[in-house]
Amino acid sequence: MKSKREIIKEIYDVLNHVELLDHDCGVHCGAACCVKGGQYSEEDMGIYLLPGEEELLKGQDWLDIKVSDASEHDLPESWKGKVYFARCKTPPICPRDMRPIQCRTFPLAPHIDSDGEFTLVYNDLELPYECPLIEEETPLEDDFVDALLDSWARLVEDPLIYDLVKMDSEAREEAFEELLDKLGY
Ligand code: SF4
Ligand code: SF4
Repeated sequence: MKSKREIIKEIYDVLNHVELLDHDCGVHCGAACCVKGGQYSEEDMGIYLLPGEEELLKGQDWLDIKVSDASEHDLPESWKGKVYFARCKTPPICPRDMRPIQCRTFPLAPHIDSDGEFTLVYNDLELPYECPLIEEETPLEDDFVDALLDSWARLVEDPLIYDLVKMDSEAREEAFEELLDKLGY
């Protein structure tokens, strides 16, 4: 049986061969998700690593990886013990073939709906910056979306990752219901 680290490495290798667009979307926004989302300055900014990623990324000197206990974070109950939070030292510059899964997934997010169907949606979390791709729901390259969907379908086979995606999905659906209520639907 493959280790989590090996599975993550295989997923990195697959995603290294696709791009979300045929050009660098960072030129439109000053690479906002890297500069404001992956940087040092604000305590709550950075990137959660998925189980197994810390093994792959430890020792990368362009990343500062902070270790804390799962109980200190808003994570599923199944998450126990150490969790890893990474901040980039020189955003938006990084070795692209070693970007964490979270960076490779944005501006999309994995979603499991109330019928248990798994899909990708635009990331609708409240963000400290605007992503033009999300605002405009820009269509992304098909091979990127297909590869990302396959990769996440594989990732959610890990019960911890499944629980995380399910928790985020339930919060997303709840927020959507609240919005509909407010609008009187
Ligand atoms: S994903 Fe969005 S925020 Fe990030 S660089 Fe591209 S357009 Fe900018
Ligand atoms: S790891 Fe790379 S892609 Fe991800 S936030 Fe940092 S600079 Fe941006």
